[in-house]
Amino acid sequence: MQLAEIGATTNGGVNRQALTDGEHAAWRLITGWAAEAGLQSFTDPVANLFLVFPGTQRDLMPILIGSHLDTQPTGGKFDGAFGVVAALEVAATMSQRRVSPRRDVVVVSWMNEEGSRFAPGMMGSEAFGAHRSVEEIRVICDRDGISVGQEIDRIHAAFGAIERRELGFRPMAYIEPHIEQNTVLQSAASIIGCVTGIQGKKTFEITISGTKGHAGTLQMSQRRDAVLAFARFAAAAEQEMLSDNPDVKFTIGQLKVLPNAPSVIPEKVVFRVDLRHPDNDVLGSCAEKLKLLCARCCSPCAISIEELVSAPSNTFDAALQRLISQAAERRGVPFMPVISFAGHDARHLASLCPSAMIFIPCRDGISHDESEWAEPAHVAAGAQILLDVVNRLLAS
Ligand SMILES: [Zn+2]
Repeated sequence: MQLAEIGATTNGGVNRQALTDGEHAAWRLITGWAAEAGLQSFTDPVANLFLVFPGTQRDLMPILIGSHLDTQPTGGKFDGAFGVVAALEVAATMSQRRVSPRRDVVVVSWMNEEGSRFAPGMMGSEAFGAHRSVEEIRVICDRDGISVGQEIDRIHAAFGAIERRELGFRPMAYIEPHIEQNTVLQSAASIIGCVTGIQGKKTFEITISGTKGHAGTLQMSQRRDAVLAFARFAAAAEQEMLSDNPDVKFTIGQLKVLPNAPSVIPEKVVFRVDLRHPDNDVLGSCAEKLKLLCARCCSPCAISIEELVSAPSNTFDAALQRLISQAAERRGVPFMPVISFAGHDARHLASLCPSAMIFIPCRDGISHDESEWAEPAHVAAGAQILLDVVNRLLAS
């Protein structure tokens, strides 16, 4: 709740976007709590924040736990924040109980998970997992022309006392606690979601190019109207994509019309399609279908299709999933396997080390919204299960 005061909106939500003054304030609060608990902070070239509870054998691979501190512009109190605070609570508890683990336990807050200020998101975890280069990330700008690079330098300057380390290390395991952002747990009256994997996602930018002209004079038969071509495509895509695969998620979330003038035949439509499905083969065939539909529906306009994101679905580590279920069972907390329909930083860690996620319910599945809410008892249960799993890993 204290963290949610940073960037608090009038409707009870949080606006704390990546690398803003709000995130600086969040770093100050979190590193302050970490210092009180005896943890050491460090950062890396992409402004991921790490808080270390040191083990007795520093050369052993650490256990990495956490999530992200940034939010959507009208985000909530729990998305990301829950994972970081739960992880910090685990490390702080171990420190206060004076346990001395062999390996380091490291809490992480990944830079720019949400991608609302700088798109696309998950920059910190992608760079950490060597899926994207630092140079590629630094040149991306927000709407005001401010680059990620400038803002990374600014937060590093503001936190000059925090140690800077090289990018990337190999963890023994990564575990990310997060709110479910769905209603599966709530409907089943379950409290712990043992996440099996994350569904795959593809994003396309499609440009339909026609010819502009006078809305009153040009014969209908002579027109190459980009908006009408788009309308044919959108209607056909909804019908045909869903009739073949009812559980595919198909969204046109952004649309630009040029010149967008009331009496000019539209020359260009640029839009983005977001496709998601847990099965990579189905996702691939939907992408093919999309290209065919474009070709079929958009004539006589020209089309170009650019694939912006291709994130295959992934399956989380079976042994970690088992540890999470066993911990919940031992605590008598209702649990069940769930799939994640949203993307998370854990996707980019899964190729680096055994990874897993612990979900807790959020009220009515509402997330990326100011009314986002998770019950304190569920938050506590998520943190407890994380601690139990970390203890099991340390004992192994
Ligand atoms: Zn999140």
